[in-house]
Amino acid sequence: MVSMACVCASSARLRGMRAVQLKHPREAVEVVDLELPHPRSGEVRVRIEACALGQLDWNLLTLDAPPRVPLIAGHEAVGVVEGTGQRVLLTPLAASCGSCAACASGDARRCVEVRWRGMHEDGLLATHVCVSERALIPIDAAFSPELAVIGGTAWTAVGAVRSLALSRPSRIAVIGIGGVGHLVAQVARAHGHEVFAHDVNPERLKNFAAIKGEGFDAAIVCTPSIQALQHAVRISRHVFLCGTSPAGRVDLSLADVVWRGVTLQGGLLGTRAQLDEAVQLISSGAVRPQVEMLSLDDVPARLWELRDLGFSGRLVVRM
Ligand SMILES: [Zn+2]
Repeated sequence: MVSMACVCASSARLRGMRAVQLKHPREAVEVVDLELPHPRSGEVRVRIEACALGQLDWNLLTLDAPPRVPLIAGHEAVGVVEGTGQRVLLTPLAASCGSCAACASGDARRCVEVRWRGMHEDGLLATHVCVSERALIPIDAAFSPELAVIGGTAWTAVGAVRSLALSRPSRIAVIGIGGVGHLVAQVARAHGHEVFAHDVNPERLKNFAAIKGEGFDAAIVCTPSIQALQHAVRISRHVFLCGTSPAGRVDLSLADVVWRGVTLQGGLLGTRAQLDEAVQLISSGAVRPQVEMLSLDDVPARLWELRDLGFSGRLVVRM
């Protein structure tokens, strides 16, 4: 009897897999053919349907000493478990201890032993991956490319808006309407907030009121720009740095902290409950990610666009 797993594997390639791999620090990634991985105890093999490209993938290319090479890139995807056919989300969280205070509170991203996909462990820009059964996030939705952005980008957007802990509809400034920012703005609206936006590219601001003046209840910065962060501190005393990691340091006036009560928060991803909310928001159509599809072979060239922040949605690779 021919199992579904055999059919799935043979449709990709007979006994191997394809992946986008970084072979040496600071070099271009390559599309490579590899042996099909075999699950170890407690693991399953997932046939990846789609994987989104993001700033983390670009950052990997800029590191002088990545945690390991060769390394398969990619950190947020949707796929199907071989053998069971269960559709699952795969997130940047490859492993956590399961027992520390952060894990116990449902916040594994703060685990003392957290390991990230596409950084410490091989990532998801591949036709197949073996993952711990504990790391699987089952979903019932029919396949759509938008599902690929839930496990990283949309989760981060929900985590940012929820972290503001605003108890009433508020005026929120979103600075940077790129891959993360366009979802942050939609999640904030879905929460009943009034959203104002700024971006260096006016094309991205068509659906938003412009940021004018000061006194916003919160400012969410979704670009790795120091100037954007400094602007945010001027227009709001509640600033959240979302999912991006600007190199360098920012001058924060201690007088602002004491006299104006400025607080600076930051975060990537969110709690497990916030991931469930991201699934619900996208499955219901309340938040609509803007995605552009590409193939695995397009990745080495298109990854460079992320350096220039040239696309306001998410690039999604269909395997
Ligand atoms: Zn832990």
